Amino acid sequence: MQIVFATNNPNKIKEVQSLVPQHIQLLSLKDINCIEEIPETTGTIEGNAQQKANYIKENYGYDCFADDTGLEVEALNGAPGVDTAHYAGPQRNASDNMDKLLTELETKNSRKAQFKTVIALHLNGQFKTFIGICKGEITKEKHGEKGFGYDPIFKAEGYDQTFAEISLEEKNKIGHRGKAVQQLINYLNQS
Ligand code: IMP
Repeated sequence: MQIVFATNNPNKIKEVQSLVPQHIQLLSLKDINCIEEIPETTGTIEGNAQQKANYIKENYGYDCFADDTGLEVEALNGAPGVDTAHYAGPQRNASDNMDKLLTELETKNSRKAQFKTVIALHLNGQFKTFIGICKGEITKEKHGEKGFGYDPIFKAEGYDQTFAEISLEEKNKIGHRGKAVQQLINYLNQS
């Protein structure tokens, strides 16, 4: 069985391929010659994941899934949310994004935040959504060298270290993406 994972990130494909049942072959956007930019215009993380999955199903006919992730900060009413990747501008620079968030939070009392990953799946005529949430807080400074994105300033609940200081294995166990992917895998294993 072939399912399109609506991404061109080879690391994401490899990671999920190693976890799905053996009879399922994951295809990337490149594999199906989808080279155009897929619209992400709904204004929500859930909506964008669904929009991407719908786009592939409608335009290419494949069963597929798409993911979208955002960081939601309580004191900022859920921002950066759907704008997480380009919070500080179109350059999509992780360091600029973190600096902007740290500045925004300088005057706020709460530093509570959560990462949210939504995976939207079209399979055998069914449409399913899986949500993985990791609650935590934004630190006052950057700590650690591992990971990517906002990892140096995000500390998961119950942890003294940021995502950039813990191992990838540990992050996958407690992290938003790991939780959403696990639900997807459980569903695929039953299908
Ligand atoms: P995407 O939907 O997976 O492309 O994620 C959108 C943006 O969220 C990324 O560009 C990163 O800035 C941020 N992000 C997603 N996942 C993580 C994570 O695990 N750690 C830190 N930042 C993340």
